[in-house]
Amino acid sequence: MTPQELLKSKFGYDQFRPGQETAINDILAHQNVLTIMPTGGGKSICYQIPALMLDGVTLVISPLIALMKDQVDALNETGIPATFVNSTLMFDEINDRFEQAKNGEIKLLYVSPERLDSGAFSQLAALPIKLVAVDEAHCISQWGHDFRPSYLALTTHLHQLPSKPTIIALTATATPRVAEDIKERLGISQEVKTGFERDNLAFKVVKDQDSDTYLLDYLKLNSGQSGIIYASTRKEVERLTGLLKRHHVAVTMYHGGLSREERRQNQEDFLYDRAPVMVATNAFGMGIDKSNVRFVIHDAVPGSLEAYYQEAGRAGRDGLPSEAILLFKIADVQTQHFFIEQSDRDEQSKQREYEKLQMMVQYANTEQCLQQFILHYFGETGPTCGRCSNCLDTRESQDITVDTQKVLSCVYRMNERFGKTLVAQVLAGSKDQRIRQLHFEALSTYGIMKKQSKREIVELIDYLTAAGYLMADGGQYPVLKVTPLGAAVLKGTRKVSRKMAVKATKSLPVNDEL
Ligand code: ADP
Repeated sequence: MTPQELLKSKFGYDQFRPGQETAINDILAHQNVLTIMPTGGGKSICYQIPALMLDGVTLVISPLIALMKDQVDALNETGIPATFVNSTLMFDEINDRFEQAKNGEIKLLYVSPERLDSGAFSQLAALPIKLVAVDEAHCISQWGHDFRPSYLALTTHLHQLPSKPTIIALTATATPRVAEDIKERLGISQEVKTGFERDNLAFKVVKDQDSDTYLLDYLKLNSGQSGIIYASTRKEVERLTGLLKRHHVAVTMYHGGLSREERRQNQEDFLYDRAPVMVATNAFGMGIDKSNVRFVIHDAVPGSLEAYYQEAGRAGRDGLPSEAILLFKIADVQTQHFFIEQSDRDEQSKQREYEKLQMMVQYANTEQCLQQFILHYFGETGPTCGRCSNCLDTRESQDITVDTQKVLSCVYRMNERFGKTLVAQVLAGSKDQRIRQLHFEALSTYGIMKKQSKREIVELIDYLTAAGYLMADGGQYPVLKVTPLGAAVLKGTRKVSRKMAVKATKSLPVNDEL
C-alpha cells in the first residue's frame, strides 16, 4: 500500500497535513530527517506510516513514559502491532516483548532513552531495527529548554546499532540553533518544518499589575470558559487555587507534589470540563489534548520562550480565537535568576539558562508584534498579527532619543562593566555608598535623569535592551553594553521612539480662572 492508502485505511484521514508526506518520503528514501511541527501538527504519522511499510521494527524513543501506554493502546486499537518497554514492567514481561519484536510480531517498539543506556542495549542491537524515531528531540540539545542527559548517550548508541536504521527526529520547539545541534548529533541532513504561526492566538503581555486582581477580573469576564493558569511553584498553585475557589471559580489544580491518583482525577475534571479552569505548575500539559482551552495565563514568567510558546500553545487547539497572556513582573525574573543560581548546573549551562530568561524579558518589553517576535526567535518570518497586545496598542509613540542618549552615554562612561541597577542609580543621582566608592558621582551623567524614579529608569533600560540598543551580557549579573544600533543613536544618526501612557497632569486648571 502507498502512504496515502495507509493514511486512509489505517488512520481514516483523506489528506496529509503539511510536511507529513515529505518526511515519510525522506524516510522511505533512507534519508535521516528532522521534523519540526507545532504540537498537534501530526508528527506521529510521519514515522507510523513508514513503520508499516518497512520490514523489521521501528524503535520509538520517547521520554514520556506516562504516555507510552496510551500511544501503544491507540495503535493496537487500529490494528497496528505495537508495544512498549520501560521501567514500569517486570523483567519477564520485558524479555517477552523483546522476543515478540525479534520475531516480527511487533511493528513499533516504544522505549525510554534510558533503555539504550542500560544493559538492554544488546537486546535492542539484536532486533531488526529499520527506523528509529526520536520523539521530543530537542531534549538532546543543551540549547533546548528541556535538555535531558539521558538523550546525550543516544547519539553514540544509535550509531552503534548494527542494522544501521534510518533516523527521524521530531520536535515541536526548535530554534535554528537547537535544530542544527539535533542534526549534527544524529547525523541528519534533511529538515521538514511547518509553520509555527498560530493565527487564532492573541498574545498579550500585562506588566506590573497585581496578578490576583487581574486573574479574578479576567475569570469573572470569561466565566465558564476553559483555561490554564501556570504558576511557578507548587505552593503558589495551592494558594491561587484556594483564592479562586473562595471566589466560586470551578477550578482544579495539578503539580508534582500531588499523589498520582489526585493528579489523574484533577486532570480528568479539567478534560471533561467539570472544572474548566486548571491552575498548575509546568509539570502539567505534556501530551494533554484538550481542544477548547480558551486562555493560557502565565502568572509568573517561564524560563524560556520555547517553554512559553509550548505552554501558551495549549490554548485554541480547536482553531477558535483564544488568548495567551503573560503577567510579567520583574520580581519573578529575579526569582528565576535565583533558581538558576541555586541549581547544580555547571557555569556554562547556567549561562545558557540566563540567556534564555533574558529572551523572556525582551519578549515582555518589546514593542514589536508579539507573534512576530516569537516567529523570529524560531527563525521564521511573518506579517504582524493584528491581534496581540502590541498590535492593538493605540498609545502614541513618543520620541525618547534624548533620554536614550543619556542612558547609553552613561553605560559608556561606566566602561560597559556594570548592570542596569547601578546604571539606573548613577542616572538617578543615587547617594548609595557603592556609587561613591566607585567615584561615579564624578561622571557627567551622574544625576542627569534625577527627575525620573529609579524604577522608571530601569524600565527604560529594559525597553532599550529589548529594542536592541543595549545588550545585557553575562550570567547572573549581566553587564550592559551598547550595541551598534545604540552607537548610531549616540552619534545622532538614529532616533528612538516608545509608546507610553500619557501621564496625568498633576493639577487641573481651577474653574474660576475660566
Ligand atoms: P503531535 O505529535 O505533532 O503533537 P499527533 O501526531 O499527536 O501530533 O497528532 C495530533 C492529532 O492530529 C491526532 O489526533 C492525529 O490523529 C491527528 N492527525 C494527524 N495527521 C492527520 C491528518 N493527516 N489528517 C487529520 N488528522 C490528522
